[in-house]
Amino acid sequence: MNKPLSKNIFWTQGRITAEQRAHLSGHSGCVIWITGLSASGKSTIATELERELFNRGRRTYLLDGDNTRHGLCSDLGFSPEDRRENIRRVGEVVRLFADAGIICITAYISPYRSDREAARQLVPPGKFIEVYLNAPLAVCEQRDPKGLYAKAHSGEIKEFTGVSAPYEPPLNPELELHTDKMSVAECVSAILAKLDRMSAIIDGAPAADGKKD
Ligand code: ADP
Repeated sequence: MNKPLSKNIFWTQGRITAEQRAHLSGHSGCVIWITGLSASGKSTIATELERELFNRGRRTYLLDGDNTRHGLCSDLGFSPEDRRENIRRVGEVVRLFADAGIICITAYISPYRSDREAARQLVPPGKFIEVYLNAPLAVCEQRDPKGLYAKAHSGEIKEFTGVSAPYEPPLNPELELHTDKMSVAECVSAILAKLDRMSAIIDGAPAADGKKD
């Protein structure tokens, strides 16, 4: 965590532990950090994943890049410095959600490896699941659901990831999904299967069939 600027700031220790919150939720918190190019499918998969987890009785929250740029990060643009600050703030938010016993799903391009790594360091070991949506740039450009690639190519949008700004793919993500070859449902199933294998995350939660995981 960053140190406060002032020396006159003191940490208040709460009386409830992360373990106690996990007991109340029926499962511990974690972060499912979805990264990839624009139009690789982050928002689509994150939304479906949250619905599936919610239907299984998990406490979830979805943080989406476009949404947090409306409030928490509305003062930030797309320069390298602002992108870094964007992800730093989101990293701090996911730390709080994970501590609160919630499964926090994020959908951010998060183009810089070091920023994603910094977010990982903020949550307990094993509670950060990096999911890389790997779709070729050409496929993303063809999908272009918001017309952003067209604007990037015409020069209307500057510093657009994959076109005029870099994307650093994860070197060792917990999961890599080729969204040009897998359907949305297959991608969501793969993430759920990964979570099911990570018992530290879902310990104590009732499974879809009513049995304990
Ligand atoms: P991002 O959040 O990464 O910018 P979106 O989810 O907004 O991407 O858009 C991805 C687009 O690609 C959507 O129109 C979605 O329907 C489509 N798509 C096609 N196949 C897939 C897939 N396997 N996974 C995710 N999205 C897909």
